[in-house]
Amino acid sequence: MTKPVIGFIGLGRMGAPMAKNLLAADHPLIAYDIVPDKVEALVEAGAKAGSSCRQVARESQLIISIVPDSPDVEEAILGAEGVIQGVSAGDVLIEMSTIAPGVGRRVAAALDEKGVPMLDCPVSGGPQGAEAGTLSIMSGGPEETFQQYLPVLQVMGERIEHFGPSGSGYMVKLCNQVGCVITIQAVCEVLGLAAKAGLDVRKVWQTVGSGLAASRIMELLGPKMLERDYAPGFTLSLQEKDLRLVAAAADELEMPLPATTLVHQLIRSLSAKGKGELGTQALILALEDLANCKVEG
Ligand code: NAD
Repeated sequence: MTKPVIGFIGLGRMGAPMAKNLLAADHPLIAYDIVPDKVEALVEAGAKAGSSCRQVARESQLIISIVPDSPDVEEAILGAEGVIQGVSAGDVLIEMSTIAPGVGRRVAAALDEKGVPMLDCPVSGGPQGAEAGTLSIMSGGPEETFQQYLPVLQVMGERIEHFGPSGSGYMVKLCNQVGCVITIQAVCEVLGLAAKAGLDVRKVWQTVGSGLAASRIMELLGPKMLERDYAPGFTLSLQEKDLRLVAAAADELEMPLPATTLVHQLIRSLSAKGKGELGTQALILALEDLANCKVEG
């Protein structure tokens, strides 16, 4: 396949390293973000500067977007200066944000009327996975489009699966978030109990983290909790957004999610205290508050 010109929209913690990997793989790329400094940083890495979502769509054949939430996707794709105003039949959108499956299906239907297929391809793996090009990518939408653009997805990710029609990828990502938040809370409770018992918390983390309770989250977020480093890879406010999407999907399916709901409330309590821009490892602060203990080591 000749390499299409890629219009890349959303150059945040995830988008910027993903776009850089595409540039490194010799894809011609036009970059756009509503924050001009973020565009400038990509231009320094070899991208052409985009001036709006519409203009980026006009000048590219493949558009990739990764912005925060459902309303941002609606604005970027369907807005007055959105992608839909600049596309031509035969262009393709790969939408990689975590948003409501229903919103994704509506955006896909609007683009379909213009002859533009859309894949929903949300990701997991955080900024580290984005930098390393090792993201997990969960896709929904037309299977033939998925097969055609798999080589582009392989630049950004390692484990890449197609799950079915439009919206399926977003739904898988919500399942993923259920696993993540419950595991983060599990790490908090392991370390919190160890601290309360007066144990060497780092030693407990090392030992428990090498046994059956080992997890990527224990490995990556455990040390940050111990060092009280709450700088965000993934913010609590984005996590809360994801849990709102999970709750809406669960309501629709009448699916009880008791543990997820509990963690959602703990995250909400931290947001209420102005801690939403901290990383998800700051969930430990909610437990510290409940237990009147300090986790450090
Ligand atoms: P971020 O806030 O760091 O970046 C989002 C970027 O989108 C920002 O630079 C913002 O200016 C830009 N943006 C917003 N609206 C726009 C618009 N209309 N047009 C152009 N640009 C626009 O967020 P992030 O951490 O990179 O996350 C992006 C998405 O990926 C979210 O849906 C998030 O849930 C998901 N995600 C994040 C992580 C993570 O660890 N950070 C992991 C997996 C998935």
